[in-house]
Amino acid sequence: MKQSITISSLGDLADRGMGLTWACDDCYRGLDLTLARAIKIWGTRQRYVRWRAPVKCAGCGSKNVSMRVQADVSIRQATGTPFVQPCSAG
Ligand SMILES: [Zn+2]
Repeated sequence: MKQSITISSLGDLADRGMGLTWACDDCYRGLDLTLARAIKIWGTRQRYVRWRAPVKCAGCGSKNVSMRVQADVSIRQATGTPFVQPCSAG
């Protein structure tokens, strides 16, 4: 057995102090879904690699929701929001 750090499940992410965020690709809203909540719904053993959470955007109903890993939720660094997408809904 090799000893290696493999982060492949939601539980692994939580153990490492990492987080997940979801955002809608169509209207760019952030979804009200966190890693803690995802674990409650799908469990710690849910793999996140190549996984698409079966969720849709509450704002526009789109299923084009992308998931992002937050490297370390205790470090708040600019992780690149190079521009603000103006909301032109309505
Ligand atoms: Zn949306």
